Amino acid sequence: MIDVYYSRCADYRMENLNRALPEVLEPLLAAQGGVAGKSVMIKPNLLEYHRQDDPAAVHPQLLLALCRFLKARHAAVIAVIENPAVRTADAVVRSMGIMPELEKLGVTVKNCTGYEKISAMPEKCRNRQLEIAVEFREYDLIIDFAKAKTHAMMTLTCGVKNLFGLVRGSERLSWHLAVGRNFDDFADMLLDLYLLAAPQITLLDAVVGMEGNGPGSGDPVALGFLCASSDALALDASVAGKLGVNDTPVLRRGKARNLLAGFVDCGDVPQVHPVKLPEAPEKVLEWGVYFPVRLRKLLRKMLLSRPVVDKAKCISCGLCIRKCPPQSLKMVRKLPVFDYGSCIRCYCCQEFCPQGAITVASSRWLKGLSALEKMIRKLNITRRK
Ligand code: SF4
Ligand code: SF4
Repeated sequence: MIDVYYSRCADYRMENLNRALPEVLEPLLAAQGGVAGKSVMIKPNLLEYHRQDDPAAVHPQLLLALCRFLKARHAAVIAVIENPAVRTADAVVRSMGIMPELEKLGVTVKNCTGYEKISAMPEKCRNRQLEIAVEFREYDLIIDFAKAKTHAMMTLTCGVKNLFGLVRGSERLSWHLAVGRNFDDFADMLLDLYLLAAPQITLLDAVVGMEGNGPGSGDPVALGFLCASSDALALDASVAGKLGVNDTPVLRRGKARNLLAGFVDCGDVPQVHPVKLPEAPEKVLEWGVYFPVRLRKLLRKMLLSRPVVDKAKCISCGLCIRKCPPQSLKMVRKLPVFDYGSCIRCYCCQEFCPQGAITVASSRWLKGLSALEKMIRKLNITRRK
């Protein structure tokens, strides 16, 4: 059984973090023989930090508290290493305002420096050749430091998805292109990364998470807890239950591939707090696997959700266009225009838009279908009564 440790934590005040962090981390560090004299790599989620308390990234005070915690336990080397898609790790941490404190602690902040193809993959991996940051081999201890966020493509992301940052930026685009609209294939690749990187500790910032239009432009939601485990997938499964999420591609594939170990919640376990999820209309399309190809294509066209731009919020920066793997976007009269025929629904444009100007919209057909489904269910219930 894998232990998933919880500690309730109402906010990011240092006294609260200094109480909650040891509660979730001490047992895991003890199982690793402590951290004294060891080199530690922290892989935080630093997607972006546009505004104070931006829930797109782990919270600066928590990152600082984690580094202080490790330093106080005599870690020899502490490195914060991330591969943000737009700015450098150094630039994101500077905008968080904690760089001077990290420097005083002797903590290095940097991007991944090199990548290698791994041919000798763990037995259960499906993708036999993944390229991954070399750093994951160079440190004694890897801490996968994730943020609890909703995600248009993966529904909810915690520890497993955070490891995608160990893949080179250009490779990340290639992965989106390679798996296209098949979110389960994407989840399989994430699970392979999880098997390969095998971080010894996964820590989740769920003091304030993100709900709705995640992972870049959702709304902050007070969840009030920290959580940690030796197994990122077990942590994901445990936390999904706490946030009222029954199904995500990563959990579905993890179960199907027998990767999800039994787990037990320990410590100060929070109450269930359902979060507002992004639109997930692709579920309806799953029925379509039984239909002929032409009908399937038509269904996709009619029912697939699509990214849309809010003209009032867009500042014409062009980032969405540069980040679109199949180049399905172009700028027309200072506004991005989508080619939905080639769009693979990876939602990178939504993830990277600094203004939260891109959202995921259900098609009118899908809304009609959902309304019909609800009506039929209601009728059935009434009849049974
Ligand atoms: S338009 Fe957006 S969702 Fe579509 S492929 Fe490009 S980045 Fe992905
Ligand atoms: S990234 Fe956002 S703000 Fe920039 S052009 Fe695209 S939609 Fe507009």
